[in-house]
Amino acid sequence: MATDTSPPTAPTTRGGVEASRYVQPEVDVPALTALLDGEYAEVRGLVRANLAEHAHILDQAETLTRAEFRERVKEVVVEMAATGQTGMGFPEEYGGGGDIGASVSAFETLAYGDLSVLVKVGVQFGLFGGAILQLGTKQHHDAYLADLITGRLMGCFAMTETGHGSNVQALGTVATYDEATQEFVLTTHGKQARKDYIGNAAEHADVAVVFAQLEVGGSSKGVHAFVVPIRKNGEPCAGVGIEDDGAKMGLNGVDNGRLWFDGVRVPRAALLNRFADVTPDGVYESPIENPNRRFFTMLGTLVQGRVCVGGAGINAAKVALTIATKYAVRRRQFEASSDEQEELLLDYGLHQRRLFPLLARTYALHFAQEVVAGQLHDVFSGISDDEHHRRELESRAAGTKALGTWHATRTIQECREACGGAGYLSINRFAALKADTDVFTTFEGDNYVLLQLVAKGLLTDYSSDFEDLDQFGMVRFVAGMAVETVIERTSAHKLLERVKDLLPGGDDWDQAAGLLDSDYQLTMLRFREEHMLAGVARRLKRGIDQGLNPGVVFSRVQDHVIAAARAHVERLVLEAFVAKARSVPSGDLKVTLNLLCDLHGLSTIEADRAWFMEHGRLTVQRSKAISREVAALCRKIRPLAEDLVDAFDVPVEMLRAPDLIGG
Ligand SMILES: Cc1cc2nc3c(=O)[nH]c(=O)nc-3n(C[C@H](O)[C@H](O)[C@H](O)COP(=O)(O)OP(=O)(O)OC[C@H]3O[C@@H](n4cnc5c(N)ncnc54)[C@H](O)[C@@H]3O)c2cc1C
Repeated sequence: MATDTSPPTAPTTRGGVEASRYVQPEVDVPALTALLDGEYAEVRGLVRANLAEHAHILDQAETLTRAEFRERVKEVVVEMAATGQTGMGFPEEYGGGGDIGASVSAFETLAYGDLSVLVKVGVQFGLFGGAILQLGTKQHHDAYLADLITGRLMGCFAMTETGHGSNVQALGTVATYDEATQEFVLTTHGKQARKDYIGNAAEHADVAVVFAQLEVGGSSKGVHAFVVPIRKNGEPCAGVGIEDDGAKMGLNGVDNGRLWFDGVRVPRAALLNRFADVTPDGVYESPIENPNRRFFTMLGTLVQGRVCVGGAGINAAKVALTIATKYAVRRRQFEASSDEQEELLLDYGLHQRRLFPLLARTYALHFAQEVVAGQLHDVFSGISDDEHHRRELESRAAGTKALGTWHATRTIQECREACGGAGYLSINRFAALKADTDVFTTFEGDNYVLLQLVAKGLLTDYSSDFEDLDQFGMVRFVAGMAVETVIERTSAHKLLERVKDLLPGGDDWDQAAGLLDSDYQLTMLRFREEHMLAGVARRLKRGIDQGLNPGVVFSRVQDHVIAAARAHVERLVLEAFVAKARSVPSGDLKVTLNLLCDLHGLSTIEADRAWFMEHGRLTVQRSKAISREVAALCRKIRPLAEDLVDAFDVPVEMLRAPDLIGG
C-alpha cells in the first residue's frame, strides 16, 4: 500500500542519468521521418507525391456541388488506382501488389489528404474488394478482382441495415436457395431490413456484396455474403431499390445510400463460398460446424478495414497537430515575458500542456498502429496464421481502432481551438478534418462495441473454445470459472510479485521507482488493467451467483468492462512506444523519443490519477510530482515541437492553411 511518506519529489532518473544533466537534443527530421515511415517508406512517399498532385481536391470539396464533388472524388480514386497504390494488398496475379503491410501504409498516408477520397478508396478496395478476396474463392477472384483493382468495376459492401449496424447477426435481409433454378432469391423484409449508409451505393456501384440470412430447405444458416448486381448502365437492376442517403455531416464526396431487394435472383455461384457452400441440390456444407464460430471466422477475415481506419484516424490527427503547432510558433498574443513583443502561443505553458500530450500520444499510437499493421501482415500473409494469432489480431485491431479514432476526434478539436478564430475558417483544414473524421468512431465498428470485444477476448483468454460465444455465453463462462481461476487469469497479485524483480523499492516500488523509468509507467498501467479485469470478472461471477439474468449482469458491469478494455489497450500502446524507443541506438533521436514516451506515459497516468489514488498506487505527493514532471517534459519538448510535427511529413499542399503555417 502506498503511504504519504514518499519523498516530496521522486527521483527522475533514466538509466542512472540525473535529469539535471539533460542536454537538449537536435532533431534530425529526415531520420525521424524514416523511423516513423518504417519498412514502407517508399510506399508512403509515393502516396505523398500523389496527394500533392491532387491537392486541388481540397478546394473542390468546398467549391463543387455535392453531385460534382462525388464525381470528382471518383475520378481521383480511379486515377490513383492506376498508380497501383490502392491495390497493394491484392494478389499479384490479378494486378495487385501482393503486400498487405504496404496496402495499410498506403491507406494510412492517404489520410493526410481529402478524406472522401480516403473513404471511397476504403469502400472500393478495402470493403468491397476485401470481401471478394477474403470470403470468395478462385471463381470470384477470377471474375472480379482484376476489374475492381483498376476501378473498372465499382462495388459496395452492403452489411449494415437501418435496423442493425453493430448486431450483424440479427440482419433482416434473406437469401433463400431455390433448388429448382439453382439460384438465391434476395428479399428485404420491411424498412428496418434495407441496407443503409452503404458507401458507393447511391451512385457509383454496379455490384454489391450483400450480407443476408441464408435459408436452405426451410432452415436458416446464418449470415452469408452474396455478390449481387445492383445497377446496369446507371439504372437499378430489376427488383433492386436504391435511395440516396443525402447530405451527411462530412465525407460528402462519398455517395452513401440505401438498397433493398424484391425477389432478386442471383446464381448459386454468387454465394461467396470460402467458408460455406450450397450444393446444386440444396445441401448446405461448411467446414466450420458451429454457426457462431463460422460467423466470427467470416467477419474476422475482414479485420483489415478496422486496422486501416485506426491508422487513418491517427494520421488525420497528425495533420491537425502540424497546423496547430506551426501556427503556435508564429502567432503572438499578450506581452508575457517581455515588454518588447507579445508572447508566442507555444511559449505559454498552457498551450504546451494542451498540445504536447496529444503530440506524444500521436507518436505512441503511431507505433502501436505499426505493431497491429505488422500483425495483420503476418497473419494474412501466412507468416503467423494460427487461431491464437488471429484472435489476438482481432482484439488488437479493435482496441487500436477505438483509441486511434477517439484520439483523432479529440486532437482535431483541441487543435482547432488552439488556432482560435482562424481555426474555424475552412481554408485552414479543421472544418473538413472535424466533419470527415467524426464518423471514424462509428464505422468499421462502433468504438464502444469494439471495446466490449476486446474485453471478451481478455476474459476468455482468447480461448478458441469460448471466443465464439455471444455476450451471454461469455458471462456464463466467466461466472462458471472457479473464483481462483478468475483471479489467476486476471491477477494483479502475480503482477506485483513480478514487479519486485523489475523495479527498485520492493513493496514500495510505486513510491521508489523513478517517474521517468518506463518500467514504472508500464507497471502502473498493467496494474490498472489487471485490477480492473479482476474486478469485472468478480462482479460477473457475483451477479450470476445471485441468480441474476446474464444479460442484466453484463449490462450492470458494462462501464467497468469498457474501462478494463481501455486500460488494456492503453497498456499495449505504451508498451509499443517503449519498445520502439528502446530499439533506437543511443543518440539524439533516442533522447527525443524518450521525452515523448515519458510524456505519454506520465500524462496517461496523470489523466487517471483519481483511480490510481483510489487504489493506493499514487500518493498525493507523487501525483503532484507527476504533474510537475509532465510540465517539465512539455518545456523540454517546446524547442523541438516544430521538428516533431515536421517529421510527420504531411505534404505542405495538404496543410493548406497558408496564413497559419507561414512560408
Ligand atoms: C458515413 C458512413 C458510412 C458507412 N459505410 C458503410 C458501408 O459502406 N457498409 C456498411 O455495411 N455499413 C456502413 N456504415 C454503417 C456503420 O458501419 C454502422 O453505422 C456502425 O456499424 C454502427 O451501427 P449503427 O449505426 O446501427 O449503430 P448502433 O449499433 O445502433 O449503435 C448506436 C449506439 O448504441 C451503442 N450500442 C450498440 N450496441 C450496444 C451494446 N451492446 N451495449 C452498449 N451500447 C451499445 C453504440 O455504442 C452506439 O453509441 C456506414 C456508416 C456511416 C455513418
